[in-house]
Amino acid sequence: MTVHATIAAKGLLIHGDYVPARSGRYFETTDPATGALIAHIAEADAHDVDVAVASARAAFEGEWGAMPGKMRGQLLHRLADLIERDADNLVTLESRDSGKPVASILRQDLPAVLDTLRYYAGMADKIDGQVIPTRPEALTYTVREAVGVVAAIVPWNFPLMIGMWKIAPALACGCSVVLKPAELTSLTALRIGELALEAGFPPGALNVVPGFGQIAGQALVDHPDVDKVTFTGSPAVGRGILEGAAGNFKRVTLELGGKSANIVFPDADVSAAVRAAASGIFFNSGQVCSAGSRVLAHADIYDEVVDGLAARAAKVRLGCPQDEATQMGPVVSGGQMDRVLDYIRIGRDEGARLVAGGARHGQQGAFIEPTVFADVTPDMRIAQEEIFGPVVSVIRFSSEEEALEIANGTAFSLAAGVWSADISRVHRFARRLKAGTVWVNTFGPTDIRLPWGGARDSGFGREHGRAALENFTEEKSVWINVT
Ligand code: NAD
Repeated sequence: MTVHATIAAKGLLIHGDYVPARSGRYFETTDPATGALIAHIAEADAHDVDVAVASARAAFEGEWGAMPGKMRGQLLHRLADLIERDADNLVTLESRDSGKPVASILRQDLPAVLDTLRYYAGMADKIDGQVIPTRPEALTYTVREAVGVVAAIVPWNFPLMIGMWKIAPALACGCSVVLKPAELTSLTALRIGELALEAGFPPGALNVVPGFGQIAGQALVDHPDVDKVTFTGSPAVGRGILEGAAGNFKRVTLELGGKSANIVFPDADVSAAVRAAASGIFFNSGQVCSAGSRVLAHADIYDEVVDGLAARAAKVRLGCPQDEATQMGPVVSGGQMDRVLDYIRIGRDEGARLVAGGARHGQQGAFIEPTVFADVTPDMRIAQEEIFGPVVSVIRFSSEEEALEIANGTAFSLAAGVWSADISRVHRFARRLKAGTVWVNTFGPTDIRLPWGGARDSGFGREHGRAALENFTEEKSVWINVT
């Protein structure tokens, strides 16, 4: 089934209402599976961002900032209820706008969005400090206070889910939020903004300003009345955000890219490892920050891993994302397709052996064949750079030390997987792998209760869990003289 309908033009969602951009400009969002126009969306510039930040500030200084945590939690639960009510519509919208298969949105994104909202709804009235004894003549304690106005800047690979990873804890803490979705995928962010108003969030608690990164995004980063930037995206943009945020010493959390290693030893369940390695790279067309884009296979099982991955690549069902049988949709845009195809050319030129895929799939839409490169060496660009597409590099190793050196030998430190039945070895690897998350005998699961984030070119700071509450609060010490 293909959905072709165009929907009405969308404005910016500021202070409880849809408003046009002051410039009057709109940009198009299209379906990457067909190229068809989905909607025109108002394009925010620095002026619109200014209005949105002023609205967020007013909400923070007003009704929203004064609301008790218990009520904030109730509103977050209500928002989750409304998302459940409108799930079909949201899933279709997300699928059309991003090319993600509905089956995987239903299996992963939607449950994660609801879990995130309900988890932080439960936290909203538990953001407390401590009484810390210091001297007999003093009562000394801490409180955690909301940091203020938060700019949430999100990418296009998981628009709803990553958006919610930022919005839910920020709102739970009592911050107001200006959300800047990626220009390729603004539609579900706007819909969440509408549902938040329906849930009863006061105007300005959550504003949504679609627009381009270098204009609307940069205006948020530079804005003197934004207190915190929480960003997920590419390392290059992350670096610029740090510089912009220095102006008024904004707090910053950066979740950037990855080149995650998935290491398979001969004593592992190799067929389970191959199955997980295939989904670890082909899920979401490889557009996953923690994608297992490097599979490190021991020499004794190297051929088995390569053959297994190639066989699985050949079986992936590509097709219309709205067809429930589809396992892999297009990448997000024609531009992203060209970028990935260019990396496939680079891999060939570098001398890697192409064993599956390697080309565009079909003539319509931004589809790429699941692609497997064997005989990749760690110095090749396809082993070092984030491709962000369905392309896996299989690298051979012969010893534990060599595997560790290769795994840790990129600029990234986001996630890694290790497959082995040797309990001592998996502990050694869990300790020595440079990664914010290490998976053992599995690859890819995340949970909102467990911290998520990286180091070096993968960024810094942690989302999820209680760690996220620290991102959106400032600790204050109170000293009361009681003599
Ligand atoms: P991107 O960095 O190009 O854009 C991300 C967001 O930043 C978009 O909303 C964009 O409009 C905005 N932006 C762009 N330039 C800006 C600027 N100068 N100032 C402020 N905002 C600006 O990234 P992308 O192409 O949308 O997403 C892919 C990248 O995101 C990959 O590198 C991927 O690894 C990373 N990612 C990381 C995680 C994680 O958790 N670590 C998760 C998902 C994606």
